[in-house]
Amino acid sequence: MSIEALQAVIDESRRIVFFGGAGVSTESGLKDFRSEDGLYSQRYRYPPETMLSRTFFMAHPDEFYSFYRDKLLCPNVRPNAAHLKLAEMERAGKLAAVVTQNIDGLHQMAGSQNVLELHGSVHRNFCMKCRRSFDLTRIIESAGVPRCACGGIVKPDVVLYEEPLDGRVMEEAVRAISEADMLIVGGTSLAVYPAAGLIDYYSGSRLVLINKSSTPYDRRANLRIEASIGRTLSQITV
Ligand code: ZN
Repeated sequence: MSIEALQAVIDESRRIVFFGGAGVSTESGLKDFRSEDGLYSQRYRYPPETMLSRTFFMAHPDEFYSFYRDKLLCPNVRPNAAHLKLAEMERAGKLAAVVTQNIDGLHQMAGSQNVLELHGSVHRNFCMKCRRSFDLTRIIESAGVPRCACGGIVKPDVVLYEEPLDGRVMEEAVRAISEADMLIVGGTSLAVYPAAGLIDYYSGSRLVLINKSSTPYDRRANLRIEASIGRTLSQITV
């Protein structure tokens, strides 16, 4: 029933924006580093928010990289049904942008073109000294702290705790959401900044929330589907 309702709203829309969170990636098998798995409490001395902070990166790059490689990198991960359907919707001219809190590049791997990555990407890395850029392979294949030929430390283009979001990406996300005729929010509890604030820029009447659990925005949604984002979108025909 709710799938039919979702299909009907998608059929009517021409400028859909998808806003996605960690749930989109975990369905591809990526771990959510925030979830307690009982492992890092034994293996790491600090909580993830500390180890993924700017201060920690600058002070202990070696420990940062061991946590980062373990928890945030998953080189063989593949796009799931949600990524693929969103790319198909963009090719069909129905979807204007994907705004994501994920850093894994899976939307691009699935074929999406206009992807606004609020928290950066593990696929982009740069030397802190000379700004030379490096791909993900360089990070995976190096041991310890990856370094540039100039001697500088290579840093992932990922927004760490204490770091500001990219202003240009935020502006584009705000514009895309405010111009959208339909907003699909998926795989996020809308608890992490700046998710909730961005949703407020949508003023239309086609706000769809697809999440496995409830969110603070449930009452504002025009349609709410409590289910897997991949299973839900795979049933949509574009
Ligand atoms: Zn360099």
